[in-house]
Amino acid sequence: MHQDIKKILVTEEEIIKRTDELARQICEDYRKEGKLPLVVGLLKGSVPFLAELIKHMDLDICFDFMDVSSYEGTESIGDVKINLDLHASVKDGSVLLVEDIVDTGRTLKEVKRMLKNKGASDVKVVSLLDKPDRRVVEIEADYVGFVVPNEFVVGYGLDYNQKYRNLPYVGVLKDEIYG
Ligand code: 5GP
Repeated sequence: MHQDIKKILVTEEEIIKRTDELARQICEDYRKEGKLPLVVGLLKGSVPFLAELIKHMDLDICFDFMDVSSYEGTESIGDVKINLDLHASVKDGSVLLVEDIVDTGRTLKEVKRMLKNKGASDVKVVSLLDKPDRRVVEIEADYVGFVVPNEFVVGYGLDYNQKYRNLPYVGVLKDEIYG
């Protein structure tokens, strides 16, 4: 375990097992609907989860990335700014949005709205983690890996000041790391 980590909440083995279950369920659902989604990851947090997820998806999917951030000082409004847009067109297509964590839900709500505005016919969301206690807007992911308590978590894509994204598990930092 990394020296800065106080406790591990979700192990690598648990993540891989759960990701495989999610991928199977997702593929079954899209097959039933006769659709093939464009898999869209939100940078940078979704990268390890997306990489694991697509390996378990038995569909001929393509994937792309978007980078969005909250407008500074407008947290309560929840607007997001696009730093990097999609290369692929989503017009009249299905999108599977991949998130690291749904916290307040603001990012998800805005990105879903953006994708609908771009003409996506339907947008589903898969998130590795869910922190329902922190929700301020009414939105839920369609598929969730793990529900976590109201604590700041790092690892498996999630950072603290851009660090710890490469940890192969999800954990909580020691108090002294926050200074
Ligand atoms: P939301 O818009 O749902 O409030 O926030 C979504 C984003 O905030 C996530 O994609 C993630 O980047 C960041 N975030 C929310 N909770 C946590 C957390 O516990 N740890 C880390 N590292 N990032 C978080």
